[in-house]
Amino acid sequence: MKSLTLPVLRLLNDGEFHSGVAIAHALGVSRASVSLSLQGVEELGLVVNKVHGRGYRLPERLQWLNRELILTHLGQEASAFRLEIMDTTESTNSLLLQRSSIKKISGDRSISVLATELQTGGRGRRGREWHSGLGDGLTFSLVWRFQQGANLLSGLSLAVGVAIARVLRSSGFEDAALKWPNDVLIDGRKLAGTLIELQGDMLGPTVAVIGIGINLKVSDTIKDRIDQSATDLYSINGETPDRNRLMAALLLELARVLRDFECHGFAPFRQEWVHYHALENQSVQLQMPDGSFQEGLVRGVGQDGSLILNTPGGDHSYNSGEISLRKVA
Ligand code: ATP
Repeated sequence: MKSLTLPVLRLLNDGEFHSGVAIAHALGVSRASVSLSLQGVEELGLVVNKVHGRGYRLPERLQWLNRELILTHLGQEASAFRLEIMDTTESTNSLLLQRSSIKKISGDRSISVLATELQTGGRGRRGREWHSGLGDGLTFSLVWRFQQGANLLSGLSLAVGVAIARVLRSSGFEDAALKWPNDVLIDGRKLAGTLIELQGDMLGPTVAVIGIGINLKVSDTIKDRIDQSATDLYSINGETPDRNRLMAALLLELARVLRDFECHGFAPFRQEWVHYHALENQSVQLQMPDGSFQEGLVRGVGQDGSLILNTPGGDHSYNSGEISLRKVA
């Protein structure tokens, strides 16, 4: 994305036509650079109308992230967060990981949050990609500093899923479900993903960078890049929720869940997590890190978030690490 793209799109966000000359004048740039700034916006998942004699128009308005609005929605809790919004970044997790080195542990207990309008190199587990367009969802990360070591943080990605599911369900998406260990689904399609990256050692303290991507209204251009069945909130009930309000609700719930998790681990969330699990009591296949497969029936999760699978050989539990879970068709 060119540096002028976002200013031009912000100007076009009133849904009216604006001539190239008028945009150039308003932004103090040349007409040619306006035209250049809009080249390739389709790749960002946007449609911009260009009509000879009338100029440019953004037929579908974008809801921009607004720091002040998010802080307002956070209410009394706002001071607990250090919130930054960037126009574009490769990966919010990568940037926060760089900034939150374990060596920089300080007395500062505020929760660093980084959200971006456009994430150009979003990551999933094991080198997979998280695809998103400009302003088509929420892509953000937050830093949580645990006194515990990484070995006590098993179940963290499941607890984060509980926070997301709670918010979605209370925002009118009652069918929001979870898939072990870290996906959020609606109607069996992937709506959101999380990526948790830890710094520190087994005995602690540990810095957790928690990255979340949620699809609000994703264009076909972006959906075509996703190699599994995906959905967005707009497809569920025909309207896109208020992006800033949803972001604040997620931050509040995440902070609540992480505080609980810090004190009690995953155990208090276990029952609720199983209630949300899309594949509970279903036949599934686990793909193991060595490429082998294990089939069985899902029988809940343990106190540490490990998946319990009933196999011909009895019940076995699996830690999330590098394992992928798929429903057996
Ligand atoms: P697992 O079941 O092991 O978590 P996963 O395939 O869901 O496997 P993740 O690392 O959690 O893996 O997420 C990355 C995957 O999510 C990508 O490989 C892609 O299939 C899918 N994906 C990428 N972008 C999106 C998106 N915007 N919406 C839904 N799914 C996406």
